[in-house]
Amino acid sequence: MAVWDDVVGQDRVTAQLAAAARDADAIVTADSALAGAPRDTPAPAGQTGASQMTHAWLFTGPPGSGRSTAARAFAAALQCVSPDRALGGAPGCGFCDGCHTSLVGTHADVEIVRTDLLSIGVKETRDLVRRAALSPAGGRWQVIVLEDADRLTEGAGNVLLKAVEEPAPRTVWLLCAPSIEDVLPTIRSRCRHLTLRTPPVSAVADVLIRRDGIEPAAAEAAARATQGHIGRARRLATDERTRARRAAVLKLPMRVDDIGGCLKAAQELIDAAGEDAKQVADEVDTKETEELRAALGAAAGTGGRLPRGTAGAMKELQDKQKRRATRTQRDSLDLALSDLTGFYRDVLALQMGASVPLANDEVRDNIQRIAASSTPERTLRRIEAVIACRGALDRNVAPLLAVEAMTAALRAG
Ligand SMILES: [Zn+2]
Repeated sequence: MAVWDDVVGQDRVTAQLAAAARDADAIVTADSALAGAPRDTPAPAGQTGASQMTHAWLFTGPPGSGRSTAARAFAAALQCVSPDRALGGAPGCGFCDGCHTSLVGTHADVEIVRTDLLSIGVKETRDLVRRAALSPAGGRWQVIVLEDADRLTEGAGNVLLKAVEEPAPRTVWLLCAPSIEDVLPTIRSRCRHLTLRTPPVSAVADVLIRRDGIEPAAAEAAARATQGHIGRARRLATDERTRARRAAVLKLPMRVDDIGGCLKAAQELIDAAGEDAKQVADEVDTKETEELRAALGAAAGTGGRLPRGTAGAMKELQDKQKRRATRTQRDSLDLALSDLTGFYRDVLALQMGASVPLANDEVRDNIQRIAASSTPERTLRRIEAVIACRGALDRNVAPLLAVEAMTAALRAG
């Protein structure tokens, strides 16, 4: 299985990356040949020709299109040490040690940066830039995958810019962001830009069947319900809690007949998001806090006092945990809003007599009811209300207020 197999429905992008990996491999081979050759040996032609390889890449595409999967696959191909390459095989075999450790995240020269925080600051970015400047331990490429380049603060962006402008000879930056506008113009102008598209439902279903062993019917339903978002489709197909949450969200349109129902539905959405944040906190925060206490020299357990001068580090961790809770809550709400948009899109499809399969076929009765009792104009206004709610959350409006305004607007239609 080649590393590209997990990059779903992106033929053009994978072709470009495979070509770059091939040229990158030629550069490594030529350099090592050169190192052993007499001093006046000229550089081989392959290295001076128009190479498909470059030092900075920007992967953009809608959520779920597989930006980071594509970046990781490329990172793996750059580290591929398959003996087949000497026989003309393409790098990225998926089996060799280089490919495998890159994909599972343990390769010494592949740093995958994913944040569960809302922003990436100057300090973290400086550390990363220092790390990027190191020579690759394995002699191939030093690869930094920055999964949320859109979350760099402006200061952090400027730190990164210097590194991207003058990269070390074997350093490769792989930046991922939803859209090109999410990245500083100065940075993106120095990156080769790859655009991923939303993969077709059939391709997502296929990967769920092939890789996750999910029953075809369930895979198909999950892929359709999540409209080509691979990660969400997988979670929906494999996680009971996610299914229950989604079922509750899809009932919301039937509950906004009166203002009391609107307020109650809004409160429940917020509570569910809060629960998600709490669950993450329960799983991670306590352990993290104990680890830091131990590292700072406090006695294990609850009673140990922290040594003098370490309160700042503990405060920093608490701030980080708080930001993570906010992010988890927002992601959870975002998921609910996606499901709601999908519901009303189905309503609109019925109202317009479009002959497309419904994303939410399991609640077809309710979709039909709402479609029959309203007009396409009202449905469009409802979709706009969901989008406006998302915008308000992005602008840091208090979540409950934003969601209440949305449920009220859904009632008005
Ligand atoms: Zn390989």
